[in-house]
Amino acid sequence: MAECGDIVVLGGGPAGLAAALAAARDGATVTLIESAGHVGGLCRTLSGDGCRFDLGGHIPFIHDVARVAWAEQLMDSPMRWIDRPVARVQHGRIVPGRYIDQMPQAPDDRVPDDGTAAGELGSRIGAGFRDHVVRPYVEKVDGWPLEVISADRSRKLRDEQQAPEGFWYPEGGIGALMDAMADGITRHGGDVRLGTPVTALSHENGRVTGITVGGDHPGTLTAPSIICAINPVALVDAASPPAPHGLLVPITMRAVTLVYLVADREQLTDEAWIQVADRRVPFSRIAEFRHWDPGLVPDGRTVLCAEVYGDATEDDPWWPLDDEALAQAVRDSLVDPLGWADDASGFRTLTVIRMPRAYPLVEAHRVDEVTRAPRWLMSLEGIELARGGTVMTAIAAGEAAVAGVTAGAR
Ligand SMILES: Cc1cc2nc3c(=O)[nH]c(=O)nc-3n(C[C@H](O)[C@H](O)[C@H](O)COP(=O)(O)OP(=O)(O)OC[C@H]3O[C@@H](n4cnc5c(N)ncnc54)[C@H](O)[C@@H]3O)c2cc1C
Repeated sequence: MAECGDIVVLGGGPAGLAAALAAARDGATVTLIESAGHVGGLCRTLSGDGCRFDLGGHIPFIHDVARVAWAEQLMDSPMRWIDRPVARVQHGRIVPGRYIDQMPQAPDDRVPDDGTAAGELGSRIGAGFRDHVVRPYVEKVDGWPLEVISADRSRKLRDEQQAPEGFWYPEGGIGALMDAMADGITRHGGDVRLGTPVTALSHENGRVTGITVGGDHPGTLTAPSIICAINPVALVDAASPPAPHGLLVPITMRAVTLVYLVADREQLTDEAWIQVADRRVPFSRIAEFRHWDPGLVPDGRTVLCAEVYGDATEDDPWWPLDDEALAQAVRDSLVDPLGWADDASGFRTLTVIRMPRAYPLVEAHRVDEVTRAPRWLMSLEGIELARGGTVMTAIAAGEAAVAGVTAGAR
């Protein structure tokens, strides 16, 4: 067993990076364990064909000035204010604002909030407006009727991902913020171990006793406090001795395929990010990166990322297509039905990235059942959970986990 200082953080996405950074800044001895060869998790900026682009559109959704100052100090560069709200397609036109933010003039058919997204949305905007404006988009993204999706999902979509006036964005892409957090950890004496997968969690008498890791430096690590910023269900699955029977239940995972196209033209649209509810269009959102940061893409060129949501099964309308066929379907849709381009042939495929298990979906009636495993994990002494559904909630969760550890140590 190797003693690893005060805190071991599992996972180097935004939650784990924020936890390790906060702990290192507090003077704790920190080790961050990350299975991949890079930090950032889902928040990465990639490159190809002389262009840079995020792994899917990634607005950090920062809503307070203190957080902007935090990011600027960390990156030693100003955040960019992008005065383009997320847009949507309505009646064949691109208009500002997300579907879920639209409010009727006077809803007269409100329905009770019954724990489903249908009830939650209907209680706010009325059943008619919900069905006409919001339902087609949310159901296209999540693939389930609103009556199955949990109220928590629609509430979070609305509250955590709003950018009604525009948004703050790190110069150089979302990955620049992640890299700056990793640099901050090492500057404050922390140890960031890449290529190091967590393979087991040992526990005894209700307390975590060790974390087993593989990779280049296999072994078992111990520390007074562990912060779990990886999928808690995977960690419960890796418990030794095994976690109590019945905790691990099947969870539906939604797939996202990112289709990147490049064209030798200044721009396709005026928008940073557009939501598309029309089911004839493979993608639900499309980002145009030069509107996020013109430095990401050389002049005279534009890069698009079409986010195709679905299920990684043969029954899905888009997933079974091979990469080039899917990219062609995306290209064609820019011409018809969207009408944004006259000719699809100018858009080359830059890359296609498939994420078969991009995010979990929980049916409204199964929320209690699927949260049993994380709750058991949290019942163990010596471990805190840090997870978030967005970049900023993940960062806040990482910081809160460190505050929890510190409070527990008092
Ligand atoms: C297509 C797409 C678009 C998105 N757009 C936005 C957006 O616009 N705005 C927004 O705020 N959010 C967005 N998100 C969500 C955002 O990316 C996540 O909420 C955020 O990354 C969660 O951070 P995390 O640290 O909890 O998890 P992750 O980013 O998933 O990081 C987890 C880390 O743990 C590591 N790990 C996993 N298992 C192990 C193991 N066994 N051992 C060691 N390490 C392990 C992983 O390699 C990873 O680095 C988007 C997500 C997707 C997929």
